[in-house]
Amino acid sequence: MEECPGQRDGSTIYYYDGHMYRRNRATESSTYYRCSVRGCFGRVIQKHNLGVIIQVSPHNHPADQDKHSLRRFLAAIQRRVSTETAPIFNIYQEEASRFPGIEKSMPFESLQLQMEKRRRLNESMNYPSEA
Ligand SMILES: [Zn+2]
Repeated sequence: MEECPGQRDGSTIYYYDGHMYRRNRATESSTYYRCSVRGCFGRVIQKHNLGVIIQVSPHNHPADQDKHSLRRFLAAIQRRVSTETAPIFNIYQEEASRFPGIEKSMPFESLQLQMEKRRRLNESMNYPSEA
């Protein structure tokens, strides 16, 4: 189960085995997730003591690895641009090396403006300025 920032600020989505989930509820021993796709009843339970994730009801749609790779790639860059001082292009290249072929679907130019804007917003919150 991998955590990614959701589309709304402060929201979180969970990625597992080609599907995205929202956290439903949690007890001491288990966390319950349901599919983030509207109308799908796919559910998994994470058993903390056993360290396993159990699929309890199936999805009504196929897993989409590609779409989720893009989303995870974008989330990783957004997170790093917000929390690190490294140049945006360096962050892009480092993350792109973890997702083979992603530069074709999401080139740097398509993200540059968005990421520069994100960084400027952060600067107003005591972000250290670049030399
Ligand atoms: Zn589903």
